[in-house]
Amino acid sequence: MTPTLDVTTTFPLERHASPVDATTRAGLLENPGFGRIFTDHMAVARWNAEKGWHDLAIQPRASLQMDPACAVLHYAQEIFEGLKAYRTDDGGVTLFRADANARRFRESARRMAMAELPEDLFLASIDALVAADREWIPAIEGGSLYLRPFMIASEVFLGVKPSAEYLYMVIASPAGAYFKGSAPSITVWVSEDYTRAAPGGTGAAKCGGNYAASLQAQAEAIREGCDQVVFLDAVQRAEVEELGGMNTFFVFDDGSIQTPPLTGTILPGITRDSILTLARDEGLGVREAPYSIDAWEADAASGRLRESFACGTAAVVTPIGRVRGRSRDFRIGNGGPGELTSRLRERLVAIQKQQAPDPHGWVR
Ligand code: PMP
Repeated sequence: MTPTLDVTTTFPLERHASPVDATTRAGLLENPGFGRIFTDHMAVARWNAEKGWHDLAIQPRASLQMDPACAVLHYAQEIFEGLKAYRTDDGGVTLFRADANARRFRESARRMAMAELPEDLFLASIDALVAADREWIPAIEGGSLYLRPFMIASEVFLGVKPSAEYLYMVIASPAGAYFKGSAPSITVWVSEDYTRAAPGGTGAAKCGGNYAASLQAQAEAIREGCDQVVFLDAVQRAEVEELGGMNTFFVFDDGSIQTPPLTGTILPGITRDSILTLARDEGLGVREAPYSIDAWEADAASGRLRESFACGTAAVVTPIGRVRGRSRDFRIGNGGPGELTSRLRERLVAIQKQQAPDPHGWVR
């Protein structure tokens, strides 16, 4: 996909000298971790009813000045996205399905009664920021530049209503390899006291409030010695929905795969959609259908279920080896990464790294 806008004029660059010298930056990029180091610039755009989207720029990264009555601080009208820019072997930079992030950002905005950012402006802001800060993309194996577009209600007003002003920004943070080598299996904790999203709620939007609501359950999972929380549906407390930050897949002995359907309570993951597409390309049986926690346990015991995995931008594909809860504890397969899980992960990573053909035009 080619950008439809001239990004240099759409988001003009206010370049500034990096506060970090080249040697220090090279040191930071050897082992960047996640989410604590930031690049030199940020993309900014503002919206109000009179001017629409205006004041678009790539500015030096700086703190925000905010009135204490700024609407986002009180009513959490906020959305975000997460995507990665990768350095390619020939020195280029690629993005994976950024257009899908742009679309989801607009859908999140609509659900939260916010101004919708046109998809071409979203893509132009990403391209312009990556161009300004491309020396911050780690060259280490598995490294990437994590991009965090977000939008907040910026009107100074305590009335409970959609804000009349919005601030859109993109910040960027160099990230190391999520796993060194192949992905280890994780143990998930089934949350029985907390749910993530109810029908009619905001589960399908990528809004900060969903994550605030998940933290108590995730903390419980960690206290129980597990890696991630798995949420059940809010009505019957029976169907498996998703993890705190990843979608879930089940692999059966007939070679078919299944994932919970998008009924509004789970996030429509871009990795989820990519896995579904790759599986259909391979001719695998693919179902988007509810799957209960009881069926998960019974099928793991009988051997009908062979593998389970979680997927998302951060870790791509992560095998689930064990499931624990207050009244259950079961292993999936032999507890290690399954064959199909590993193959789908490798296929997706190869496309992202441009080491395999890209029949769906996902990489740009
Ligand atoms: N579910 C939730 C709740 C998430 O936060 C994420 C990460 N964005 C995902 C699923 C996976 O989505 P994606 O594949 O688009 O990263």
